[in-house]
Amino acid sequence: MDGLLRDGEGAERVLIDPAHETPLTPFREASADQVSQAVASAASALPIWAATLPTERAEVLHRLADMIARNADDLARIEATNVGKPLSQARRDVGRASDYFRFYAGVCDKLNGETIPLGPDQTALTVPEPVGVTAHILPWNYPISTLARGVAPALAAGATVVAKPSELTPFTALEVARLATQAGLPDGAFNVVTGGGEIGAALAGHEGIAHVTFTGSTATGRKVMQAASSPVAGVTLELGGKSPVIVLEDADLDAAADGVVRGIFFNAGQVCAAGARLICARSVHDALLAKVAAKAHAMGFGDPLDDPHIGPLISSGQLARVEGFVARAKAQGLTCVLGGARVDRPGFFFPPTIFADVPTDAEIARDEVFGPVLVTHLCDDAEDALRIANDSPYGLVAGVYTRGHDTALWLARKLEAGQVFINGFLTGGDTVPFGGVKHSGIGREKGLAGLSAYLAPKSIILNHARPT
Ligand code: NAD
Repeated sequence: MDGLLRDGEGAERVLIDPAHETPLTPFREASADQVSQAVASAASALPIWAATLPTERAEVLHRLADMIARNADDLARIEATNVGKPLSQARRDVGRASDYFRFYAGVCDKLNGETIPLGPDQTALTVPEPVGVTAHILPWNYPISTLARGVAPALAAGATVVAKPSELTPFTALEVARLATQAGLPDGAFNVVTGGGEIGAALAGHEGIAHVTFTGSTATGRKVMQAASSPVAGVTLELGGKSPVIVLEDADLDAAADGVVRGIFFNAGQVCAAGARLICARSVHDALLAKVAAKAHAMGFGDPLDDPHIGPLISSGQLARVEGFVARAKAQGLTCVLGGARVDRPGFFFPPTIFADVPTDAEIARDEVFGPVLVTHLCDDAEDALRIANDSPYGLVAGVYTRGHDTALWLARKLEAGQVFINGFLTGGDTVPFGGVKHSGIGREKGLAGLSAYLAPKSIILNHARPT
């Protein structure tokens, strides 16, 4: 805050390294008073940052992108150790964070308004103004990349920021804030407060906040939306999912197996857009399942810094949650064809797990597990697959594997999801709009669409009666 790093004045927290179950360096969380101080800092920086020339804002954001890239090794090691994610995945996340700042740096001087002719005597014009102080409440699965995907467009728009990382993963956000000060952001333009749900609630409902960008579970998203109604703040909600991957009879099964395995076991399944439901044509189900299971079985565990295929889950609580889902599915008599019990080594490791031919109303088929657990459903044809895919409260992403272009496009248009991948999965990149429908959220991040939440276009109407 105010360009200063201040110690938290809240409770002390000791986080656990999820791969070794050993304590990480303790730190003190922020207090509720410090949330108000951070919002006040952001409010005082707002007129300065909003009035900074667009080209100068761009320079600062480019510098920050460069600094993140230069510090990528250190940031990736911090992220890998804290989250338990394989080092190469952590490096990729740091690269994405740098890319977000670079992408949005490029739009600072291209935020044009429009003119609207109202007849011969009037012209309206719009001036895109920054929305104000923005809050960013973040999850633990992609700490640095979800931070950057909201903070970069907010700063590009001239808005200022108070970010709250997850209480489980605060470290890279604090590092990025430190780099932002060195990159030349004005004091107070980018603040980070640490802490859990209470601090998040205080931030989301703070009277000084104009917009809340929240990434996390649907249950918490609802609370954030309610809290944000007090300051009448806008909300972007990036929430959970139970995304379907449809594989039809004519699909390339090797390509589909690659996509399915990556889609559900990447980051140990702790991915909002994970392809958790495989909906497969009856005639090729067993052949595809064999390929998926063989690939998944071959995935190795290990210390995240040694870059294994799969790291641990984030915490003992998340491990218990995944174990609970799996135990209840087994008790229900569902067929577990791979995995199903925690790995016998220190750390919160859980193996790739597959339940085959699961009824669509089973708990494990409907609820977000947020772990490396795949369920399969059998379908008769594209229409049947669509019915099963859309029978979910969620609508984040979906995948379709088929050689039939007409069928692929028909499905893409009918699927209830914010993003649909054809003959690939999670291949969108960060310049493509991303976000959910139904219980997966509202609003879009990434790409140019990610800017609109941070801009409040002002309309000015010019009356220019003809000279007499
Ligand atoms: P979570 O909802 O438990 O917590 C998210 C954040 O909200 C944390 O920073 C937490 O401290 C804060 N929080 C908790 N209670 C709050 C309250 N009452 N008011 C304000 N803030 C509060 O989610 P999580 O466990 O950190 O993350 C996992 C979830 O996030 C999954 O459901 C996953 O699908 C979702 N997610 C979605 C996306 C996306 O882009 N759609 C990306 C990543 C994760």
